[in-house]
Amino acid sequence: MKATLTTCPYCGTGCNLYLLGDERGQLYGVEPVAGHPVSRGQLCLKGWNAHAFVAHPERLTHPLLRRQGKLRPCDWETALDLVHCRLAAIAERHGPDSLMFLASAKASNEENYLLMKLARAGFGTNNVDHCARLCHSSTVFGLAETLGSGAMTNSLNCFERTDLVLVIGSNTTEQHPLIGSRILQARQRGAGLIVIDGRTIRLARHADLHLRPQNGTDVALLCGMMRQILADGLEDRAFIAARCENFAAFEASLRDYTPERVAAITGVPAQQLVDAARRFACADKAMIVFAMGITQHSHGVDNVRALSNLALLTGNIGRPGTGLNPLRGQNNVQGACDMGALPDVYSGYQKVSDPAAREKFSAAWGVPLPDRPGLMATHAMEAAAAGRVRGMLIMGENPLLSEANQGLVRQALQKLEFLAVIDIFPTETAQLADVVLPAACYAERDGSFTSTERRVQRGRQAIAPPGEARADWQILCALLGRCGVPAGYAGPGEIMAEIAALTPSYAGISYPRLEGTGLQWPCPDAEHPGTPILHVGRCSRGKARFSPVAYRPAVETPDADYPFLLNTGRTGVHWHTGSMTRRSHLLDREEREPYVEIHPADAARYQLEERRPVRISSRRGSIEARTRITDRVPAGQLFIPFHFVEGAANALTNNALDPESGIPEFKVCAVRLQPC
Ligand code: SF4
Repeated sequence: MKATLTTCPYCGTGCNLYLLGDERGQLYGVEPVAGHPVSRGQLCLKGWNAHAFVAHPERLTHPLLRRQGKLRPCDWETALDLVHCRLAAIAERHGPDSLMFLASAKASNEENYLLMKLARAGFGTNNVDHCARLCHSSTVFGLAETLGSGAMTNSLNCFERTDLVLVIGSNTTEQHPLIGSRILQARQRGAGLIVIDGRTIRLARHADLHLRPQNGTDVALLCGMMRQILADGLEDRAFIAARCENFAAFEASLRDYTPERVAAITGVPAQQLVDAARRFACADKAMIVFAMGITQHSHGVDNVRALSNLALLTGNIGRPGTGLNPLRGQNNVQGACDMGALPDVYSGYQKVSDPAAREKFSAAWGVPLPDRPGLMATHAMEAAAAGRVRGMLIMGENPLLSEANQGLVRQALQKLEFLAVIDIFPTETAQLADVVLPAACYAERDGSFTSTERRVQRGRQAIAPPGEARADWQILCALLGRCGVPAGYAGPGEIMAEIAALTPSYAGISYPRLEGTGLQWPCPDAEHPGTPILHVGRCSRGKARFSPVAYRPAVETPDADYPFLLNTGRTGVHWHTGSMTRRSHLLDREEREPYVEIHPADAARYQLEERRPVRISSRRGSIEARTRITDRVPAGQLFIPFHFVEGAANALTNNALDPESGIPEFKVCAVRLQPC
């Protein structure tokens, strides 16, 4: 038995595990890594099953080409030539910005770097993005504006030193189970816990206070808390004076958020709001933990700004046990952002509109580069549906299940003149492609991944890919070569060397240095030990900026025709569009079918029993699911996980976008329900 040390392919916590395999290239299981600083000898259910999908019979093993309406096997040279020729021809006829490139938070840093290089240097467009658009684009925008960096400010070991954890919009024990354990351990040690979530998530049962605002009203709630902190004189005056700017405008913006008004907007009793504000402000060291319950709104950036204001108001930045801690959903969503798989920045968030940055990358890559920021993924789907984007290359993403308003996304993908997909399984998106290129999965290739706490770690190849499947970086090098951009890398280590040379925050990172337990960026030179806590003494932008916000309701709220508020999210055993976990036997056994959570009072009103099939409809689509009757959801609200193709929650969701981050409003739309 051979044990290969690698990084878990699922959530952004960054656990390490050993893949156990044999000489014939079969995997038998996983083992946790006792000395690892994040996982500490533990794994969650998904981690323990990380080997299970690798040998699934549906793995793609040969390139596929659509002929007479069907995807049929072809050879690599034909497939690669066709992808290059068709995309180049569309760019020639309609301009480079008629193309769109989607990178992947499941691919490595090196692969995301190469994909953005392919889009920019190979095809001359900044139209490159990835699924961070759908999860934490609001975080990147909001924190970059207020602090100067869009990443998690602190480290996971800060839970050991905190006095209080505020969890808002994060079902941590389900989505990031080992971080959830850290929060529970902090609680056992005596730290305070405030949970703000409309659903009664597991952490809520352990909390000092559980506030249940109506979905979409967080800005009002947070402004109310901050107004109360000021009214009580509990703000950190010294921190504000020394480290922040724009306080007067921020203070004035809170005037109208009285506890009574906030209670009327949010449904949270005024006294609970006052208690939460006082508990938070009185803690010496308080951590804010948040995820998609905050970001996935048409006002997601304002939600993040409000959280940042709260941390600044109370001096909870730049110290152990404090900070703004967005939990990243996929194992490399932080890295995909860091690598510039975004429409407005190169790696290290260097702006494409900055002539100096553009000149640097242009000189390194040997081609002129476009200066205008490209399309966000969500805007690209609208552009494709309108015929303005005509060709697309998608690496390791499944937008047909993951984007809001599935009907629009299907229309967009079907209207493309040419769609190429690189993936490990024939996902719902791959089934619409003209060419499908089979990729090696995480267990079959080398690379590096950056976790939610900015920890860059190695992934290592344990076995050979199936059939003719190739690593994404090899596929991208072949396409770069066809575009005339030299890409003769010997392996991911050489790609990382190029990344380090061009990216100040990764400048000290190299494969030899990643042999240990990884490095947390910024790591500006080869001797630097990495940075566990950001904004110590000084924020990345200099002074932190208070950013006033005003409450705006969700774009679509319940009415007489669509009387329920729909909230979407995940279950603990499945991951995203289920392409891996639903092909993992034991995980799929735990949750086999789509379900809808409904409050007992609503179930009684509709005369519904447990596991009854019901039809749920919004203005955009309709699905069936079985009822799960529970007071975890408040009356008037439904919850549906988005993992299931046979009951795709995103057939219902609203693609109303945050005007700044372009994130859709996954967490609020109006639906109706009928028994089947
Ligand atoms: Fe993998 Fe996340 Fe579970 Fe850790 S907590 S084992 S990274 S899925």
